[in-house]
Amino acid sequence: MGFDVVVVGSVNQDLTLFTPRRPLPGETVLGTGHRWNAGGKGANQAVAAARLGARTAFIGRTGRADHGENLHASLRAEGIDVTCTGIDTEAPTGLAVISVDDTAENSIVVSPGANSTLTPDHISECEETLAEAKVVLAQLEIPLETVVAAASATAGLFCLNPAPARALTDDLLSRVDVLIPNRTELATLASSSMPKGPDEVTEMARSIGGPGAVAVTLGSDGVIVVRGEETTRVASPGVTPVDTTGAGDAFCGALGEALSRGIDLIGAVHWAARAGALATTRHGAQDAMPTREELERLS
Ligand code: ADP
Repeated sequence: MGFDVVVVGSVNQDLTLFTPRRPLPGETVLGTGHRWNAGGKGANQAVAAARLGARTAFIGRTGRADHGENLHASLRAEGIDVTCTGIDTEAPTGLAVISVDDTAENSIVVSPGANSTLTPDHISECEETLAEAKVVLAQLEIPLETVVAAASATAGLFCLNPAPARALTDDLLSRVDVLIPNRTELATLASSSMPKGPDEVTEMARSIGGPGAVAVTLGSDGVIVVRGEETTRVASPGVTPVDTTGAGDAFCGALGEALSRGIDLIGAVHWAARAGALATTRHGAQDAMPTREELERLS
């Protein structure tokens, strides 16, 4: 039997620095502490789906000597199948340096390392895993041609979180069932400036032809879902955020998990918005991913 959710994406070692405020160009600020965590949008989303009970597999790539083996072990510890997670003997493991300020806003620099050596050939080796998955979830921290190959190999639902933002071809967009951008990513996809209010978000999401639906995540303002002529606004529960790093990944993983259970898109977005909100109440990305019990408790 196939997996509920297969994530094709990045896996990184994260270094998170806590700072009263993020430095201006050329400036040095003294931080208040730091932490090493497992990360990468792909691995984070796989952990989010697995913690909610989805049978999850991860297709990705790490280096060997540095943090690679630990990251494999941490995925396995979450119950995630890593048969299709390769080890590159030459490239370093991906590394992300994240600074989080006192208002819980973050800035991130990612060095992709082995994530950029995940090629369409690796996707061919895992074709069956993709073809049998209920939901395949991808992001853009791996080469674009690899994302295209994953979309082609998918028979179930293909969800794409276009992060970090870059322009996408109409061909790829037309293979996407649910596109999940945040405000910034939406603006890049629409080749436009940041949308100001909900009407502009809706208009911009509608201007992206191709995907079956677009679910735009808007932080504490929740989500706007655009499907053809239909627009639905979904609120997020009110929480007190301490670190917004994992919110989008929690949202995407939870959305994939709910869709794999056959929940309709709007129901799945409600569930995912709760996951995103809960993730902001804790530090880190993977560490912040909620369990099913925690999500059910949050009204
Ligand atoms: P990203 O991290 O990709 O920018 P968002 O910040 O839009 O994504 O967060 C994803 C989802 O998580 C939001 O749509 C929302 O449902 C939830 N979320 C994020 N931040 C908050 C917040 N401060 N309060 C409540 N929910 C939040």
